[in-house]
Amino acid sequence: MAMTNEPGDRPVEHDPHPDYLPPRKPWAEPYWEALPDGKLLLQHCEQCNAFAYPPVDERCSVCKSPTSWREASGQARLWSWIVFHHEFFAGYPLPAPYTVLMLELAEGIRMLATLAGAEPADLACDAPMEFLSREVAPGVFIPGFAPA
Ligand SMILES: [Zn+2]
Repeated sequence: MAMTNEPGDRPVEHDPHPDYLPPRKPWAEPYWEALPDGKLLLQHCEQCNAFAYPPVDERCSVCKSPTSWREASGQARLWSWIVFHHEFFAGYPLPAPYTVLMLELAEGIRMLATLAGAEPADLACDAPMEFLSREVAPGVFIPGFAPA
């Protein structure tokens, strides 16, 4: 949802899906709806056992079979990380510097998420990490991970 300031428009006070997040598509709704409940949902293919992240359009990207949603274990290993010292996304609610992680989930796929509850100096490659949902603005949730 884009914020508008045309004459006569009321300013948007609460945008549950601001522009700095990936586009919100109908087939990705279960993913977004689970985050406020502290859950990470992944699409899973019963045919080839592949998991998908980020959400894909209905069918498995490996074998094109239908997928269903499964709650992830929330367990991961830290693959790499980087500290963002500049604002790359307009309006992003985390002030720079903030840390972006590349994680390998226990489900065997990689995902990007933000660091929560720790400093970059606390991180080590292959360290166990644990998922948590982060409310970064009122009603706006993104995935985060903290050292386990
Ligand atoms: Zn598949």
